[in-house]
Amino acid sequence: MSSVQELLVSLGVNPASFQNGSLKVHSPIDGAPIANVVEQSSAEVTAAVERAHAAFTQWRQVPAPRRGELIRLLGEELRANKEALGRLVSIEAGKIIAEGQGEVQEMIDICDFAVGLSRQLYGLTIASERPGHRMMETWHPLGVVGVITAFNFPVAVWSWNTALALVCGDAVIWKPSEKTPLTALATHALLERALKKFGDAPEHLSQLVIGQRETGEILVNNPRVALVSATGSTRMGREVGPKVAARFGRCILELGGNNAIIVSETADLDMAVRGIVFGAVGTAGQRCTSTRRLIVHSSIAHELAERLKKAYRTLPIGNPLEAGTLVGPLIDKAAFDTMQTALQKAVEQKGIVTGGQRVLHDRFPDAYYVEPALVEMPAQTEVVRHETFAPILYIMSYERFEDALALQNEVPQGLSSAIFTTNLLEAEYFMSAAGSDCGIANVNIGTSGAEIGGAFGGEKETGGGRESGSDAWKGYMRRATNTINYSRELPLAQGVKFGD
Ligand code: NAD
Repeated sequence: MSSVQELLVSLGVNPASFQNGSLKVHSPIDGAPIANVVEQSSAEVTAAVERAHAAFTQWRQVPAPRRGELIRLLGEELRANKEALGRLVSIEAGKIIAEGQGEVQEMIDICDFAVGLSRQLYGLTIASERPGHRMMETWHPLGVVGVITAFNFPVAVWSWNTALALVCGDAVIWKPSEKTPLTALATHALLERALKKFGDAPEHLSQLVIGQRETGEILVNNPRVALVSATGSTRMGREVGPKVAARFGRCILELGGNNAIIVSETADLDMAVRGIVFGAVGTAGQRCTSTRRLIVHSSIAHELAERLKKAYRTLPIGNPLEAGTLVGPLIDKAAFDTMQTALQKAVEQKGIVTGGQRVLHDRFPDAYYVEPALVEMPAQTEVVRHETFAPILYIMSYERFEDALALQNEVPQGLSSAIFTTNLLEAEYFMSAAGSDCGIANVNIGTSGAEIGGAFGGEKETGGGRESGSDAWKGYMRRATNTINYSRELPLAQGVKFGD
């Protein structure tokens, strides 16, 4: 058994699920095959939905604070296994150790949040216009939640959805990315341990289905799946959204971003450089919130570009499992090819490229490590308006703040955005109704690294969904409005009178 397989077994995964299956898994670190995961047939996925629905009808009757206990136990399992699961994230998704561990910490944080939430699923009491009446709203469990996730946050996104969904009284079916099924198997094994300790949860409350996008499509098309929460590319969301809408199901779409930082002439440049480099090259540019565009005041554009080039030259690129590495590999060859095509287009569109080439191919002939690219663009051309899921940072300059804001908003995506400025008026305007049109708008902090306490998601082609903190839980429940008459009269609406 290889060390990866031993790691899986130590996390409680049954070897039968990853030894002789049809889904071949490769580590992006060296391209080596690490497992053969068993995939579920379409009949098995449909049967899983039926079982989930049966589990839902029981779980919805369990008091919410008791449901919270399950998530508390899940948090404990995650704490106890943070290092092992984080390492597996690094091996399967290519993240550096700190990011792999950080992803598991996010899971722990959302569990803590959801445990508290289990006692706070509040509805309103509303003043009635009729005498002797009271109105209120009640939040009820929604049904089966299908969670479809992307490769780049292979486990955290599941937890953002599942911790809330389970506390809200729903049953969950998870379809992870076909590129990262091992972290899903391990995470689900930890949830199963928590379920065992919990004792009396219905069987099949949470299930994992492994497969290609067709597996996800079965969840998308099944009317028993009340909510499809899908994270991935805008292409995927364009397919999923209309199908779920056609059957009047509910969707949370968390899709691509094209996140910009505006750097004003008043910015603290030391802070800005740190924020930009972390946002642009962290996870090798493979975060939905990665910084992809820089909009810099012309008076400091040259200086900032030079400082970034200097910082980029010293970036430690390499095996993400080794201490000191800050930039790991791209997920696969297709990601590398897409990056190269984008850089070629940028040159055709008059961009000046620094970096971007493949490195370490002698040591890792089957893996794809790149020098992150900086591209100075004369304008926001077609290639800049597109999300390329790789470490490419386009730099553009501006003269007037209004123009910077217009450039920031003038892309189809609307996930994350930031401004570095010490001008209070610019900062406030940036966050105002006429400012950034993104779901996340930050001041003096970069575009990535959202905390779980806030609602996470974005507008336009990012899909409009919200997950994680704040009142995102409402997306996982249905709202009933109740009117109670405690008088001995029955005043009818609109003054209508029937009978005596
Ligand atoms: P992807 O769209 O290729 O796949 C995502 C998931 O959707 C996978 O599980 C895949 O099997 C499934 N899928 C694809 N087509 C489907 C279909 N027609 N029906 C049902 N399921 C389908 O994305 P990826 O390459 O894994 O991830 C990268 C993308 O995800 C980037 O665009 C990134 O910005 C985005 N992302 C967004 C967020 C966010 O919260 N907004 C978070 C992480 C990643």
